[in-house]
Amino acid sequence: MSELLELNILPSPKTVEESLVAETTSEDVVRRIHTLKEELRDKVVILGHHYQRDDIVQFADRTGDSFELARYASELYDREFIIFCGVHFMAETADVLSGDNQKVILPDLKAGCSMSDMARAEQVYDVWDEIGEQLDTAKLCPITYMNSSAAIKAFCGEHGGAVSTSSNNKALFEWAFSQGFEKILFFPDQHLGRNTAFYQMGIPLEQIRLYDQTKPLGGLTPEELRSAKILLWRGHCSVHQHFQSSHPNIMRALYPGIQVLVHPECNFDVVRQADKVGSTAYIIKTVEQAPPGSMWAIGTEHHMVNRLRKEHPEQFITTLAPYACECSTMFRISPESLLDILENLKRGVVKNQISVEASEKKWARVALERMLEVTRKAQ
Ligand code: SF4
Repeated sequence: MSELLELNILPSPKTVEESLVAETTSEDVVRRIHTLKEELRDKVVILGHHYQRDDIVQFADRTGDSFELARYASELYDREFIIFCGVHFMAETADVLSGDNQKVILPDLKAGCSMSDMARAEQVYDVWDEIGEQLDTAKLCPITYMNSSAAIKAFCGEHGGAVSTSSNNKALFEWAFSQGFEKILFFPDQHLGRNTAFYQMGIPLEQIRLYDQTKPLGGLTPEELRSAKILLWRGHCSVHQHFQSSHPNIMRALYPGIQVLVHPECNFDVVRQADKVGSTAYIIKTVEQAPPGSMWAIGTEHHMVNRLRKEHPEQFITTLAPYACECSTMFRISPESLLDILENLKRGVVKNQISVEASEKKWARVALERMLEVTRKAQ
């Protein structure tokens, strides 16, 4: 393996870091953002997702994963403007959970999420009707991962279901069965759904079925559909799919003693080989609590891994893949776009507001509040 390193086929963590595009923001932009933040401090709060680059995180009043930021948004009633440095579905969620007097702003409207785009509302309605020709959908609970549009969250709320995140997916699946539902339809991330159902709940794989929305009846026979407990939408994260089942062993061979720590959006085989698996918040906590000298190969978005590495020089931290896996849509939020939003607010102009339709807002809020309630009880 060391020959591969010498041949530069597998770069060392240092090489990975050096290969990054430098994230430098001009001093003038940094100064102007700080000045405007100070001038608007009673009206504005800036939220930053952990996957944002460092030159955005430096301006965030609060950082978190999608669950933590959703909770903050539901508690920040004293700020008129919530500037959400994340992606579109997160800003929608903040709009659903925030007060009527508040406005949520996404600095770059092109900051979407490829996973969220894999489940369109019209497709979900069609699939629901298709399944309804075979089963009683009153016994089927739709649960959507946070990484989905407000329209899909609303669909779940209206049909007795809920939203989940990677930190509470098991609790939401258990809640669904405790409500008398016999099956769950989970979207959009097949990997989180399968990893939760199999590794955390012990549901056999024969009862966990991929429902391929591009095929008639999801590519299943009526009998397979009837015997399934969990139906998984065919979606995935384009960042976490880069982690492959060969990577844990490569890292263990390169760095004896290293522990593999991955996000459950990674595929089933990667998760099977990991030492630890959990949400973004869990990954951060695990590293924070580890003793000096600990060694980690982490399977999640690169900016977060790199930040952990810088914050914990007493440990050895590298990305699980032998290259950087970054979320290119998260990366669209730049200091310049943030500055543009603040300058417009200073002039009284609200740019890039994210506003969920009232009809969707009502049911999306029901689905999100079910999640918050289930999580509160599970803690
Ligand atoms: S990391 Fe994956 S799931 Fe998260 S925003 Fe990027 S594409 Fe979407």
